[in-house]
Amino acid sequence: MSCDFLALAQPGVQKLSPYVPGKPVDELARELGLAPETIVKLASNENPLGPSPRVLEAVRQALPELTRYPDGNGFTLKQSLAHRYGVAPEQITLGNGSNDILELVARAFLAPGLNAVFSAHAFAVYPIATQAAGAQGKVVPARDWGHDLDAMLAAIDAQTRVIFLANPNNPTGTWFGAEALERFLAQVPEQVLVLLDEAYIEYAEGSELPDGLAYLAQYPNLLVSRTFSKAYGLAALRVGYAISSPRIADVLNRVRQPFNVNSLALAAACAALEDEDYLRASREANTAGMRQLEAGFRALGLSWIPSRGNFIAVDFARDAAPVNQALLHEGVIVRPVAGYGMPTFLRVSIGTEAENARLLDALQQVLAR
Ligand SMILES: *Cc1c(COP(=O)(O)O)cnc(C)c1O
Repeated sequence: MSCDFLALAQPGVQKLSPYVPGKPVDELARELGLAPETIVKLASNENPLGPSPRVLEAVRQALPELTRYPDGNGFTLKQSLAHRYGVAPEQITLGNGSNDILELVARAFLAPGLNAVFSAHAFAVYPIATQAAGAQGKVVPARDWGHDLDAMLAAIDAQTRVIFLANPNNPTGTWFGAEALERFLAQVPEQVLVLLDEAYIEYAEGSELPDGLAYLAQYPNLLVSRTFSKAYGLAALRVGYAISSPRIADVLNRVRQPFNVNSLALAAACAALEDEDYLRASREANTAGMRQLEAGFRALGLSWIPSRGNFIAVDFARDAAPVNQALLHEGVIVRPVAGYGMPTFLRVSIGTEAENARLLDALQQVLAR
């Protein structure tokens, strides 16, 4: 007896392909018989500095309470975030990573017969969350690899409930400025929720990127999502958040798991938020690493898409899959982005100076063959 469970799944789920993560170091080590410590992974936009000592201490202190459920309301973290960003705790939704926030929005606001609008080459979770909710994804062609906000506005119809924007976007690194965002928000119908995904915003400080939080008071349909996974260096613990009008937060709160953020993550995020030195070091390392990679790519005659994230999409002007394979054999893991409609590119996360140098060395050897 065998049952075709795929045929029984809801139609949106049947058509889903699972998210493809960056290759884990141990997996490559097993496949190629390499020593894990010789492998460099620049594939998942992880913070190369290692965790902040203050975070490690906070996690250590939270360990004796592992038998207890976490605070399902995340009181302390919400207080810290509210204080930091000048918002009310009622405006904050905590997530198991900001990925969780994207799914809560999809589950709460999307359904069969409705749609979500997002850009081509945008973060892969937008189509996955949309389809899993049984809704249709309306993919808007990009302009110069970035969001074409005017075309996205034009794609809105009576069935549109959510627009996903990423600023900067992953995997392209492209961004839009305050004026473009303002013009966009002013024209989105009030019943359409705008999810502004600012997963990399801490890296973009002082650049021409707008601070999404500045528009919350004016736009009750705006939701800004952020994460502790990138500049704060907590990817393993899974903690992100959304700031929105209290009414949207109330809706999301109804669909979230009661204990969606674990106690170690809550403790770590509070400590991370206090650690200004770590954040500054993350930014500085990222800026320096970005320059190092750009200079290296230039020397190799490669072009790239200018990025405001902690990663950069480099163009090989031919199928990049063989380059990726060759890099893996050199013990360097980067991210193929053919699945994002970018088959000639590889996305490289900014690493430490030594890791970036390893990548550039390996690339030079691979391209010389
Ligand atoms: C990494 C990333 C996220 C989410 O990461 P979490 O670890 O789930 O917080 C969200 N959006 C974009 C664009 C990302 O690149």
